[in-house]
Amino acid sequence: MSVTEKRPQFWKALKRSCQIAGSVDVGFFFIFHLLSSPILAWVNVVSVTMYGVAYRAIGRKQNGLAISLIWLEVIVHAGLGTVLIGWDSGFHYYLLIFIPAVFVSMGFSAALVALAGLWTYYVGLYLLMWFTQPLQPIAAGALLGVYLFNLSVVFAMFGYLSFFYLKTVTKASRKLRQMATTDPLTGLLNRRHMTYLVEKELARFRRNGRPMAFLLFDIDYFKEVNDQYGHETGDRILEDVARIIKNQVRAEDLIARWGGEEFLVVLPGTRLQSARISAERIREALMAHKWQGANGQRIEITTSAGVSECCANDDLNSSINRADRALYCSKEHGRNRVEQEAV
Ligand code: GH3
Ligand code: MG
Ligand code: MG
Repeated sequence: MSVTEKRPQFWKALKRSCQIAGSVDVGFFFIFHLLSSPILAWVNVVSVTMYGVAYRAIGRKQNGLAISLIWLEVIVHAGLGTVLIGWDSGFHYYLLIFIPAVFVSMGFSAALVALAGLWTYYVGLYLLMWFTQPLQPIAAGALLGVYLFNLSVVFAMFGYLSFFYLKTVTKASRKLRQMATTDPLTGLLNRRHMTYLVEKELARFRRNGRPMAFLLFDIDYFKEVNDQYGHETGDRILEDVARIIKNQVRAEDLIARWGGEEFLVVLPGTRLQSARISAERIREALMAHKWQGANGQRIEITTSAGVSECCANDDLNSSINRADRALYCSKEHGRNRVEQEAV
């Protein structure tokens, strides 16, 4: 797998950086022409070409080539600018942009080596300019202008990179949280996260007595549905069951895929009788849906449900076990029905 596929966002940002740096160098070409520094002016023509080639290389997934060109450009450009017009030109700041970039684009050990090399080069350049004079000094006012320009570009690039890293990290952590808390097929809460949320609701129940009810649904004869219409159709049915249940409950209610074809709905602030009415409504909605196989054939889908209400001294297991026993009763009494178990 190429690096592009692993971190597409990074390469997109690098492409954008090539565009920005290339445009800045076009500006530099004219500035140094006006300042009568032909060497630096023509260095920028080479730089723009290098950024152009690097940009195209990323587009073709030749990431190694692109990275090498960008490194070479920045190192040579920062070095030449400093040696020709002096340390106070601020060209060396561009080297610092590599510090965060090396850790994103390389493995940890390679990044450490690159960082040590960068530090050596940076300090070497500083010492060189400490002991020698610039080869093509420019007027003090022009030098100040070049310094402020370079500083501003480096600020803008650091700002852009920081924003980009923040966006990437936020997106990744959101995705991780979603993966850790939801069921990938139905998008409902997974069993682990539901357990965590119910524990929190139970604590609230113990503190201020706010009632809470549990509805446990199980699709009837689902194994036969899989056997007859295939596992893919089975999966699609599970997705649709999740969607239909979601449409039947309030936003504050919690729904989880509790097992293979079992769904747990938790209704905070709800007593047993109202919970039973909700369960009946969901069961009817599931039965009324026009279920179809891959070739459009009608499929009969029904569900059985067990309902319970949380009571004093209940823990997570005891209240859900009551709903589970009620569900078992529904199955025993012929399926496609709702049973409840009071305390
Ligand atoms: P009952 O009415 O007693 O509940 O019968 P059942 O066939 O639904 O119950 P059983 O526990 O025997 O079978 C459950 C089936 O659910 C078996 C399994 O293949 C199916 N199942 C569980 N998870 C998934 C899934 O992710 N996708 C699909 N397609 N099927 C699943
Ligand atoms: Mg089951
Ligand atoms: Mg079942």
